[in-house]
Amino acid sequence: MAEVETKALPPLKRLLLRLVHPAKGKIWTEADLAEVKGMVRFLKVFVMTILLPGIVLAFVGVRTIQSDSTSMRSELREKADVAIEATRDQINSLFSSFEQRTLERIASGQSTVDSIGELSQHLRVAFVIDSSGDLIAPFEPPVARPSGEHDLLFSETWREAQLKYMDGDFGAAARLYRKASYELRGDFAQGNTSWSRALSLLNAGNVQQATQMLQAITEDLYDVRNAHGFRFGDLARLRLAELEMEQREQIGVNSLISLSDDLLDQKWTIGLGGEAAVCVRALDLLDGLADTTWLSAQRSRLERRTSELFWAEQAHDSISTALESTTTLEEGLFAYTRTGRILWASTITSERTLLFAFDLDTIEAETLLVAATATERTPEVKLTVLAPQYRFVGEAISRAPLAEALSGWDLVSHTGEISDLVRKHKQTRRLKEVMIATPLILLISGAFISLRLVGRELEIASMKSDFAANVSHDLRSPITQIRLKGEFLQLGLAEEDELQSHYDIIVRESERLSRLVDNVLDFSSIESGKKRYRVRPADITETVRVAVEAARFSMETRGIEMEVNLAEGLPVIIHEPEAIQQVLQNLISNAAKYGEPGGWIGISAKLGHNTVEIAVSDRGIGISDEDLPQIFEKFFRSDSDIAQRQKGTGIGLTIVQYIMEAHHGAVRVKSSLGHGTTFTLHFPIRAPIASGL
Ligand code: ADP
Repeated sequence: MAEVETKALPPLKRLLLRLVHPAKGKIWTEADLAEVKGMVRFLKVFVMTILLPGIVLAFVGVRTIQSDSTSMRSELREKADVAIEATRDQINSLFSSFEQRTLERIASGQSTVDSIGELSQHLRVAFVIDSSGDLIAPFEPPVARPSGEHDLLFSETWREAQLKYMDGDFGAAARLYRKASYELRGDFAQGNTSWSRALSLLNAGNVQQATQMLQAITEDLYDVRNAHGFRFGDLARLRLAELEMEQREQIGVNSLISLSDDLLDQKWTIGLGGEAAVCVRALDLLDGLADTTWLSAQRSRLERRTSELFWAEQAHDSISTALESTTTLEEGLFAYTRTGRILWASTITSERTLLFAFDLDTIEAETLLVAATATERTPEVKLTVLAPQYRFVGEAISRAPLAEALSGWDLVSHTGEISDLVRKHKQTRRLKEVMIATPLILLISGAFISLRLVGRELEIASMKSDFAANVSHDLRSPITQIRLKGEFLQLGLAEEDELQSHYDIIVRESERLSRLVDNVLDFSSIESGKKRYRVRPADITETVRVAVEAARFSMETRGIEMEVNLAEGLPVIIHEPEAIQQVLQNLISNAAKYGEPGGWIGISAKLGHNTVEIAVSDRGIGISDEDLPQIFEKFFRSDSDIAQRQKGTGIGLTIVQYIMEAHHGAVRVKSSLGHGTTFTLHFPIRAPIASGL
């Protein structure tokens, strides 16, 4: 048994079903062809007005979103390029301004090794090399350790003198040192013995002799160095100045001033820090005695020269490598080469080669700083400075050589933190997606709905044409019968015993005719919305009884048994008895039409749950599950051969449902194919009286 409420099978589905299972329906009927043509017409309109614009919209939308992400990438790239360019410009200008200043100095004949900080803050030391490749400024090339140390070590007198000195016997020590100076040869020995003798004399309290000794050293052994690289001349001058200070301070101060000036003006030797150390000591002694501005200027000069000396020592070994880069160099141009953490810049003049050693560490630090400043306002872009030995790991936006001077060094740009730009682009993208998706969804659902509506309209149109044919057929048949029988009687052709049967046929057919006319008229007023019912509280059992009695005669002549079972004492129901009788007549007539010939119809009325239920049952052909949802649709008639054998218009059940709804009731159907059908009318017991009914 299947039970359903009214619901129509979509026309498209039905059409497709027929196409897939041609056996299921007569696809090539006129009506189906009209339906197909209608569909094709609709599809044309659909494609032109909905599908094509939809596709164009989707295409444009997708392209806009795509071009959006490309534009974001190119925007990022643009920003990265700007940052890279800015950084490169600054680093390049760092070198170009160095080159320019250097060339200016060369042109004006100024020294290129003094005040190198003015040429570039990254410059640590500069060298001047002559045409034969020898270092000529600002330092002397490194020298071998002083010779003669052995002589001293093997001299017994020297050792003895040292022991005396250590014992505090300075007089004896002074004598022994003098003896040793006679015994030993060579500057180193002379310097050491003279210096030690002078100190011994001083300690022995013989200041005058010591002073003479020290003066002699400054005259004869000035440049001789001790084992620590100190020149005896410098040491002697320092000591003399100290002695002078004890007697007449100003003389001592003047001596110290001229000592420090001399030391700072002289050319120092790479690897030997004696001059620097003596200068430090001299300036320390002048603390509080000399002019402070002069003192601090002197100290910073000393610091610069000491640092240069340190760097010269670091760089000296790779001078030859730096020189190699100048072999094909033209005057006024610079070549750059790298050794360790030193970046060499070299240029040539007519007779000299100038070498400049830059500190790579500070250049790198400055580059990083410049890169960070260049990307300060674009946090979405970051720059990485890549030294030649490194590889960039990650996704780079762009990459460019850092500077001509720093060959092999690259600047790599990559995305930084998830920035406003990326977030903004994501938001716009989402917004665009929604803006494109919404009309598309509306378009598709609109298309779907209109497809259904059009399908439905097409179906109704085809049903209407069936309906017109069916009505005229249904009208013709009883009219023909009545006319035939009437003429028969009029002409007196009927036998006496046949008379009753002719009268019965005339009555039955005219009832059928009037029911048909009632249905058609009712249907048209229902359709136009003009149908009104005059409801009133009335005895529903009586209404059913009248309907049954009206049908009884017709049923009996057709040999149909009517089993009527009406419960006693049913409540009064607000209804229009004539309308409900029409409902019952339609159901009984259907039960007779689709029931077994000479069959049975059951009519019952009973109390349900808050309702009165009136059922009309038959044991006829039943209704298929496929048809069941559609039987209340207007003009619907089953396609099954067995149902088609009966005449009909397809509006009977539509009227039944309409009348029941107007009474705030419902009609339900239970059916089993081949076994029978039961229609049940449900009346609410306390139905409100709706206005307009
Ligand atoms: P019709 O004029 O075709 O009878 P109806 O609206 O009264 O129109 O019925 C619609 C269709 O429902 C019928 O064509 C028939 O297929 C089916 N139907 C209605 N009542 C019965 C019934 N008692 N038994 C089987 N089929 C029925």
